[in-house]
Amino acid sequence: MSDYKAKFTVIPCAVCGQLVDVDNFGQGKCKHCGWHQSEICLEYSDMVAYPNMVSFNKAKTLYKQGLPLKPSLDDFIEGLDFYKEMEFEYLGVLYGVLWSRNIIELGEYFEKDPAKWQYFDNFEEFKQKAYIGGKLLKDIWDDVTNADYMICR
Ligand SMILES: [Zn+2]
Repeated sequence: MSDYKAKFTVIPCAVCGQLVDVDNFGQGKCKHCGWHQSEICLEYSDMVAYPNMVSFNKAKTLYKQGLPLKPSLDDFIEGLDFYKEMEFEYLGVLYGVLWSRNIIELGEYFEKDPAKWQYFDNFEEFKQKAYIGGKLLKDIWDDVTNADYMICR
C-alpha cells in the first residue's frame, strides 16, 4: 500500500516563495500566485512553455508588480506555437484556437460548422486580423479570460 501523501514534497514557489506541494516530477500549481512549478519553465526562463502561460522571468516581474500571471496576446501565441491547441473566454463564451499544417483556426469551442471559423496563414496574421463579434482580438485581449492550453472537455 502506498502512502499518497509521501509522494508529495513541499517546496517554495519559484515565483512568489510561498510553500507549494509538488509531485515526484517537481510539478504543482502554486495556490498563491498561480505559477506551475516546472523545471522546463525555469530552464527556458524567457519562453512560454506548458503548463505556464507566461515565461518564468515575466511571471517574476508580474508578481513583483502585484499583477496576475495573465498572458498577453503575444504570450498566448507563443503558447499556441508550443502546444498547438489553445482556448480562451470572452464575454462568457469559450473559444478554441488550433494550429496545424500551417493553418491557424479560431472559432467558438463547440462550433462544428467550418464556415463559422476564421483561418489564418501565420501567427502575425492571426494577431492582426483575428476578431470576435466585429472587434479585433488584439483590441479586446485585456477583457479575455482563462486564456490557457486546451484541456479535454
Ligand atoms: Zn507562487
